[in-house]
Amino acid sequence: MPKKVQKYDVISIGAHPDDVEVGTGGVLVKLKEKGHRTGIVYLTRGEMGTGGTAQIRKKEAEEAAGIMGADLLERFDLGDTKIFDTYENRSLVARVLRKYRPTIVLAPHWEGHTGRRQSHADHVATGRIVLNAANLARLKKFEPRTEPHEVRAIFHYFIPFGVAPTFVIDITDQYDTWLAALKAHRSQFLNPEKTRDYIWSLETMARSFGSLIGAKYGQGFVASSPLNVNDMFALVGSAPKTA
Ligand SMILES: [Zn+2]
Repeated sequence: MPKKVQKYDVISIGAHPDDVEVGTGGVLVKLKEKGHRTGIVYLTRGEMGTGGTAQIRKKEAEEAAGIMGADLLERFDLGDTKIFDTYENRSLVARVLRKYRPTIVLAPHWEGHTGRRQSHADHVATGRIVLNAANLARLKKFEPRTEPHEVRAIFHYFIPFGVAPTFVIDITDQYDTWLAALKAHRSQFLNPEKTRDYIWSLETMARSFGSLIGAKYGQGFVASSPLNVNDMFALVGSAPKTA
């Protein structure tokens, strides 16, 4: 029996297994707690990562998705370190958007910075692919002619150095679950062959974003276009918890 495709509230797209967890994991947990339908899409299998293999990373991503309560985990194989903003890749993501019909899409930022730790080329390419795919998905004549879909907003994570987030979401209450999802990626973040303390770095990142809004932990995003705001108070939210 064909599976009925249901609309998703939020789809978080990454280049490699763990991108979505690192940049948006706490927020996905929070959205799930609020009853939203969330999905995760990876464009590569992460086979070029120093730790693990494509197969190991698949299992880790499945475990992490389970911890975050994601309703969907879909993987593509566009080639780790080989992703480009081509028509074919835009088209693939546009078909994904039409299929799952998300209201909000989360994706890496579309610009990079120099330096190894600042914006992997795959992340930048993924950000651009998603922006262009969202434009394709709304075109009536885009093939195949399935029902057009308009994403309401794209918010970008993996913000390059020197760019301020448009908004930060308080993930203090979701921090432990987020950490558990990160730790599911053992080959990346708990790998004894690596000397860097990744968990410390990721916690520091969350503290840094949190400090911008007076919260203990946060995740920051950049809006790729001005927000259409009806209720200004919806932007303010409740008073954040302080550390
Ligand atoms: Zn990555």
